[in-house]
Amino acid sequence: MSKGTIGVTSDNIFPVIKKFLYSDHEIFLRELISNAVDATQKLKVISRQPSAVSIPMDDLRVRVTIDKKKKTLTVSDHGIGMTADEVDKFINQIAFSGAEEFLNQYKDKAEAIIGHFGLGFYSAFMVSKKVEIFSLSYREDAKAVHWSCEGSPEYTMEDTIKAERGTDIVLHIDDEFAQYLEDATIEGLLKKYCKFLPVEIAFGKKKEWKDGKEVELDEENIINDVNPAWTRKPADLKDEDYDKFYHELYPTQMDEPLFHIHLNVDYPFNLTGILYFPKIKSNLDVHRNKIQLYCNQVYVTDEVENIVPEYLTLLHGVIDSPDIPLNVSRSYLQSDNNVKKISGYITKKVADKLAELYKADKDGFAKKWDDIKMFIQFGMLTDEKFYEKATGFALLKNLSGEYATLDEYMDKVRDKQVDKDGNMVLLYTNDPDAHYTFIERAKAKGYDVLLQDGELDVHCMSQAEQKHEKLRFVRIDSDTIENLIKKEDAAKDAYTDEQKEGLRKAFEALLPTSEDKLRYNVTCEAAAADALPVFLTQNEFMRRMKEMAAHQQGLSFYGQMPESYNLVLNTSHPLIQELVGKEVSEQVNEEVEKDGKKETVLKTVCKLEGEDDRMKQLIDIALLAGGQLKGEALAKFVNRSVELL
Ligand code: ADP
Repeated sequence: MSKGTIGVTSDNIFPVIKKFLYSDHEIFLRELISNAVDATQKLKVISRQPSAVSIPMDDLRVRVTIDKKKKTLTVSDHGIGMTADEVDKFINQIAFSGAEEFLNQYKDKAEAIIGHFGLGFYSAFMVSKKVEIFSLSYREDAKAVHWSCEGSPEYTMEDTIKAERGTDIVLHIDDEFAQYLEDATIEGLLKKYCKFLPVEIAFGKKKEWKDGKEVELDEENIINDVNPAWTRKPADLKDEDYDKFYHELYPTQMDEPLFHIHLNVDYPFNLTGILYFPKIKSNLDVHRNKIQLYCNQVYVTDEVENIVPEYLTLLHGVIDSPDIPLNVSRSYLQSDNNVKKISGYITKKVADKLAELYKADKDGFAKKWDDIKMFIQFGMLTDEKFYEKATGFALLKNLSGEYATLDEYMDKVRDKQVDKDGNMVLLYTNDPDAHYTFIERAKAKGYDVLLQDGELDVHCMSQAEQKHEKLRFVRIDSDTIENLIKKEDAAKDAYTDEQKEGLRKAFEALLPTSEDKLRYNVTCEAAAADALPVFLTQNEFMRRMKEMAAHQQGLSFYGQMPESYNLVLNTSHPLIQELVGKEVSEQVNEEVEKDGKKETVLKTVCKLEGEDDRMKQLIDIALLAGGQLKGEALAKFVNRSVELL
C-alpha cells in the first residue's frame, strides 16, 4: 500500500471543490458517468487498432447502483480501466487531463470523448466523505488497483482483486447529501443528464405493474437512447422519427411540432442538432420546454441564450457541440468567436429551411403561419440578416384569409392602392368588428384590407416602411378612405372656409366635455355622400407611436399623450349640407383668468339655431360607431332618439 499527497498547487483543494467549483452539486453524477462513458469509448477505439490484442467487448454498459446500508453510490464501467501508474498520473496529479493526452494520441480516430468538463472526477468530493476507485486496466497482465481518499489531500493506493475489466467509482455519500441515496433522485438526474449518452447506462431493473403491484423484471432499466435522432443522418430519418424524438425530449408535451430543422456542420466548428418549431398555446409552454444544449451527447444546460439568437430561444430541440466553451461566464460566451459563428449559422439555417418550406408548399406553410409568425417577426425585428432572408417567406394575411409575402401582396394591390403621389397604401385593421363600416367603404372601392392583429405587427409595418420608400400602412379607421388613398379626382365641397369654420365651431361647442385622456378634433371633409354624416378617425402616426410605446422604453413620451380622435364632418352628406350656412355668430361674455386675476372678455361663438339636438345626435352616432358612447352619454342618446322619433 502506498500513501501520498495529491499533486495540486493549492494545499487543500477539497474545500474549494465543495464550495466554489460547482454551485450545482448534482453535476457530480454527470461528471462520473461522462468519465465512464469516455473510458468505454476509448476501449472501442483501441479495439479497432490493427495492433490491438483481442479485447472482449460483450458487456459495455455503465451501471449505477445504490447501497443504502453502506450509504454508497457506485458508478461502474467496463471501459479501459486504469493501472496503478495511470491512477497516479490521472487522478493524483490533478493537473494532467487524461482525456487531453488520449486525444493527442488518437487525434482523428477518437470517438466522442466527453472529458472536457474540467475537474470531472474530483467533483465526487462535493457530495462524498470518501471516494474509492477499484480499477482493472484492459492491458495484458494488468493488476487491479484500489485507491481511496477521504476528502483530504492524502490518499492510499494498493493492489486489489477485481474480476472484471473497468472501473468502479464508489462514493460514500455525506449525510448532508442523503438525497443522492434515493432511487428517485438518481433516476431523475440520470434522465436529465444522461438521456442521450452514446453508451448504455443501466440503473436497477425494469419495473412493470402486475395485479396492482409494481414488480421488478429481470431486464435492466436502461436510461438512455444511445442513438438519438440528431446523431443520425437526415436521410435515414422520416418525419415520424423526428416527431418521436420530440416526445422523447419533452415527455410531457402532447402536441406535435410544426416542423423541424436538422443542423449539421463540421466546419469551421462542430455542431449537430434538431430544432423544432412548436405550437405555442400559452406563455407557459414557452418557458416549460427549452432548447437543450449537449456536448457529445452529455446534457449541459437549457440556458442557451447566448448561443442561439434570442428570437430562436423560443424554439424547442437540441444543439450538440463540443466547440462551445462550457464552464465559462456568460459575458465570455458573448464575445467568443465560435459562439458568434454558431449563432450566425443557426440563423442562416433556420431562414433557409423556412424559405424552402414556403417554396415547396405555399398553402401548407400559410396554414402554419399564425403559429410561427411570432418567431419570424421577432427575428426580423432583431436581426438584420434574418430580416433579409425572411422577406421571402414572412406573410401578410388579408380579411379573406389569403396569405402573401409583402412583395406578392404589393403586386396584387398595385393597380388600385397607389395614391396620386405614387405611394403604395396598404390598408389594415386589427379589429374587423370595430372597423366594420370603414372596411365596407374600402371594399366598395375595390381595395383590399389586411388583418394585422398580432403583437408585433405594428413594429413590423414600421420596419417595412423604413425599407420601402413609397410604402405606407394605414389602419382603416385612421381617416376617410378618400383621404387614405388620395386620387387626382378627389371630391371637393363647394363651401367657403368661413362656412366650414362656423360649422366646426358649432359642433365643437357641443362636444362631450372630454376627460384628460381623450381629445376630439373637429374637421370638415368631403367624404363619400353615402358615408356617415359625422364619424371618428384616429391619426395613424400618433396611434402607432402609442402602441409601440407599450413595448419600447424610448417612446414612453407617446404613451403619456392623451388619446386623440378626429371628429369628421362629412360635407358631402345631405344632413351636414343642410346645416352649412345656418350658423349665426353670437358675442358672449366669458370669464377668463389672466395674470391671476379674473377678467371678462367678449367671445364669438357659433351656434345653429334650433339644431342642437340634431347635432348632438350626429355626434353621438359618430361616437357610437366608434365604440365610444358609454354610460350616461349612451342613455341620453337613447332617450333623445326616442324623443326625436
Ligand atoms: P477529465 O475527464 O476532464 O480528463 P477527470 O478528473 O474527470 O478529468 O479525469 C481524469 C482522468 O482520469 C481521465 O482523463 C481519465 O484518464 C481518468 N479516468 C477517470 N475516470 C475514469 C474511468 N472511469 N475509467 C478510466 N479512466 C478514468
